[in-house]
Amino acid sequence: MSYQEYQKLCEEIARHNRLYFEEAKPEITDEAFDALVLKASELEKLHPEWVGENSPSLKMGEMPISGFKEVPHAVPMLSLEKAFTLDEVQAFIDRARKLLEGKPVAFTSEMKVDGLAISLLYEMGELMQALTRGDGKVGSDVTQNIKMISTIPSKLHGKHVPELLEVRGEVYLPKDAFQALNHEREIAGEPLWANPRNAAAGTLKLLDPNQVAARKGLTAAFYGISQMSEPKVHFQHDVVPFLHTLCFPVLEHDKHIYTTAEGLIESAEKIKAKREKLHFGIDGVVFKLDNLHDAEQLSATAKHPRSALAFKFSAEQAMSRVREITVQVGRTGVLTPVAELEPTLLAGSTISRATLHNEEEVARKDIRVGDRVIIEKGGDVIPKVVAVDFTARAHSSTPWRMPESCPSCGTKVVRDEVEVAVRCPNHNCPEQVIRSLTHFAGKDGLDIEGMGDKVVRQLYAKGFVKTPADILKLNSNEISQLEGFKEKSTNNLLTGIEKAKKTTLDRLILALGIRHVGTATAELIAKKVGSIEGLRNLSHAQMQQIHGIGEAVADSLVAYFQDPKNQQLLDSFISSGVTFEVLKVTESKISGLQIVLTGSLETMSRSEATKRIKERGGIVSESVSKKTDLVVAGADPGSKYEKAKKLGIKIIDEAEFIQITS
Ligand code: AMP
Ligand code: ZN
Repeated sequence: MSYQEYQKLCEEIARHNRLYFEEAKPEITDEAFDALVLKASELEKLHPEWVGENSPSLKMGEMPISGFKEVPHAVPMLSLEKAFTLDEVQAFIDRARKLLEGKPVAFTSEMKVDGLAISLLYEMGELMQALTRGDGKVGSDVTQNIKMISTIPSKLHGKHVPELLEVRGEVYLPKDAFQALNHEREIAGEPLWANPRNAAAGTLKLLDPNQVAARKGLTAAFYGISQMSEPKVHFQHDVVPFLHTLCFPVLEHDKHIYTTAEGLIESAEKIKAKREKLHFGIDGVVFKLDNLHDAEQLSATAKHPRSALAFKFSAEQAMSRVREITVQVGRTGVLTPVAELEPTLLAGSTISRATLHNEEEVARKDIRVGDRVIIEKGGDVIPKVVAVDFTARAHSSTPWRMPESCPSCGTKVVRDEVEVAVRCPNHNCPEQVIRSLTHFAGKDGLDIEGMGDKVVRQLYAKGFVKTPADILKLNSNEISQLEGFKEKSTNNLLTGIEKAKKTTLDRLILALGIRHVGTATAELIAKKVGSIEGLRNLSHAQMQQIHGIGEAVADSLVAYFQDPKNQQLLDSFISSGVTFEVLKVTESKISGLQIVLTGSLETMSRSEATKRIKERGGIVSESVSKKTDLVVAGADPGSKYEKAKKLGIKIIDEAEFIQITS
């Protein structure tokens, strides 16, 4: 490789760094990134004279986030050296032993949670400062945002609170919270986050702490101490338990210490086997020298400590072939390219499609029809095309282009620079209409039993439905004309429609599929206006009174409801017999209390219990924090129960719950 090529490689690495840390929009996997860095450092070993200002081995990724104060770290936040093989782990152990002049060495094994590194400074038990890693020397001050995460203590309690304490950990979003968040964004027609790490990083970069507070499930795990006055902790295996006594959230802890590379790898394999079942994502395991005094003596290189090693899991990959690239038209008109793949077995399931996200992504990876490609699935991530095998490309192949006109209606497409999207601007575009109708009838809408995508498509093709209101007015004559519909199935669908007409106002608003309107917004509006009449008359002034709805969303809402076509739609909901169940809230013993449900209840479902609490003026929240007033524990309660016990929050059983809510 020439010096020019090495330079190009450095630029490429710098670009991915920027995408990952500043924009939280990575284009390649962590493994692919690591491979680039590895390649660069191998070249640097061969050509030490090449190492210059741009060398990735001298730099560390994260850049300061704009809008936040930059603060130097008292103790640098280093990244970790990486290993993938037994030999590399052995070399790491040997080096430690050698530097410690033959002293016996032992190591802990911890999960490497995939989130965003954070350093918290406490003085006299009070949270003073929270910094991101930044470039390792200087980080961004995100204290206000961190204070919004309910699982992170802003004041420390207990017998052994040190006067000065700086802890290191990771802010992350659990898998289910990530899925819920992306689902919400999908409902609201917004671009999805690629993975939980980006979603967590994107959240900490928000300039409005209230928005951070609203992000459900965001939490953290702490695993290290970078500064501490008395008491002293001498071993890494005591660090996590000690932090736990101070009420820091920590991960399940492996108390063992390991003295051989084989033992460490075995521990990593055990963790890997559990990976799918964990409720958060991990990308490997960290081995750390157990004796912290020795660890200090080993010191660090410019980039890594010599006392710790990240053993990374590689994502599962397979080869496939792109049969075709199709274009999907979404509810809001966004065109998404999709790779139709030769069915390939990957991580236990057969993959035959993978989203290619957008035009730019296809161009950057230069994915073409007929290409042999590497596909990948890591953790719970949706399968994706990582790269093309250019050596196997046919000479006749040509670059893929986004069609200039909509595949559904033929209208010329427009490019939306802000969202990097290509859109079909025609609101009467059949595919957009069908998708809106499916949304209206589907799980995030009125949830009409038996009205799936296939049924909606037929109804549309036969000209029976054009608007959501038409769905509610369907009759047996029309339905019986659908393929495979006999008397019984026709009646079932009619019953489904009748049932769905009894709904709630927020559900109806959500069903309309207005851009930027998710569950929370729909609930806020429903509460404010109370009726369909209220929606018809929705004004800017009213919207401004609702806390939690931004200007852009307010504009889009008011415009939507003032549109005569939509006013007509609202009228026809009323004429087709839609009624709303109103939650009557009465004062009770639990009014205003924050209540958390855990475990399974015997006499009622979760949603019934939730309704019961809401009707009595209580507030149901998902996770236990200091603000929680009461925990209702059913059979087999989970970690929420443990946490409540630790925080000394009142816990009651099902019988007592029924008693206080009767
Ligand atoms: P990397 O960024 O891949 O070099 O890995 C280093 C990062 O791993 C640290 O800065 C932490 O953010 C993260 N990490 C996750 N879990 C742990 C852990 N148990 N111990 C140390 N670092 C961890
Ligand atoms: Zn169209």
